[in-house]
Amino acid sequence: MSDKAVISIVVAAYNEEEVILESYKRLKKVMDSINEPYEIIFVNDGSRDKTAVILNEMCVMDKNCKLIDFSRNFGQQVAITAGMDHSEGDAIVVIDADLQDPPEVIPKMIEKWREGYDVVYGKRAERKGESVFKKITAAVFYRFLRKMTDVEIPVDTGDFRLIDRKVCDALKSINEKNRYVRGLISWLGFRQTGVEFVRDKRFAGETKYPLKRMIKFAFDAITSFSYKPLKLATYLGTTVSVLSFLYLLVVLYQRIFTNQVQPGWASTLAVNLVFNGIVLIILGVIGEYIGRIYDEAKGRPLYIIRQFKNFRDDKK
Ligand code: UDP
Ligand code: MG
Repeated sequence: MSDKAVISIVVAAYNEEEVILESYKRLKKVMDSINEPYEIIFVNDGSRDKTAVILNEMCVMDKNCKLIDFSRNFGQQVAITAGMDHSEGDAIVVIDADLQDPPEVIPKMIEKWREGYDVVYGKRAERKGESVFKKITAAVFYRFLRKMTDVEIPVDTGDFRLIDRKVCDALKSINEKNRYVRGLISWLGFRQTGVEFVRDKRFAGETKYPLKRMIKFAFDAITSFSYKPLKLATYLGTTVSVLSFLYLLVVLYQRIFTNQVQPGWASTLAVNLVFNGIVLIILGVIGEYIGRIYDEAKGRPLYIIRQFKNFRDDKK
C-alpha cells in the first residue's frame, strides 16, 4: 500500500435534488482535509427531478466529481455496484446521498483500512429521525436475516462501508441480479471490522424505500443467502401431512365403528381453508425463488448507462 492512496467515494442518488449539493459539499470538505487524491462517483439512478442537472454542473466545476447516469431507475443496490465497477481507488467508500451516513466517519474508516482491514463497515449505534416503524422493522429484519442465513452478516449495518480494491475486484466477479451488496461482501470473507456511528436523520427529502421496496429488499437478502425458507416450507408441509393423516384415522374410526352422524360441513371447511392457505404460502415461497432463477437465467446486464462524465476512457 503506497502512502498516497486514491480513495473512491460512491454515492447512489435517486431523486435527491434537495440534498445532493449539500452532500457533495460535506464530502468535499472531509476529503480535502484528508489530503489524498480522491474521486466522488455519483450514480444517478434514473432520477425524475433535477438531480442529474445538478450533478452535471458539479462535474463541470470539479474534476474530482464523476457521474454515471443510468438510463432509468435500477435500484440502489445496482447503482452502488455500477459505482464500484467504474471506480479506480485503492479503497472504495459507499455512502448514501441523504447525509444519513455522516461523511465525517470516512477518515476513521480509512484509518482502520490502513491498519490492515479489507472491509470497514459503519455500524449504526443509533438511528435518528426515523419512524418507530422503520426502526423496529429494521431491527427485526437484521436479526431474522442472521437466523435465516449461513453467512455472517453484521447486524445494524447499511451499505455505508469502506472496501479495499481487492474486495471490489472480487465483487465484480459476482453477477447476481437481485443483489444484496452488503451480504455479498460478507460472503466474500476478508478481514472485516466496524466503526460505530450515529445515523442522522435525512437532510431533506423523503425515504426512497417505501414499505413495498423494503419487502422486496428483505426477500432479496434472504433468498440470496438461504435455502431455509424452502426447508421451512418442507417441514411445515410434512408436519401438516402427518397431522392430517392422524385425523384421517379418527375419521375412519368414526365412520366404521360408530354410528355418529357426521356434522361434516364445519370440519370440512376448516380443513380446506387451513390446507389451501398453507399450500399457497409454500407455493409463494417456491415462486420467490423461481422468479429469481428466472432473472438470473435471462442473463441481462445489470444496468444500462446513458452517459459518463469525467471518467478516463479505460474506466468507462
Ligand atoms: N437510492 C437509489 N435508488 C433507489 C432508491 C434509493 O439510488 O431506487 C439511493 C438514495 O438516493 C439514497 C440511498 O439510496 O442515497 C438510500 O436511500 P434512502 O435514504 O431513501 O433509504 P433509507 O435511508 O430511508 O433506508
Ligand atoms: Mg436514507
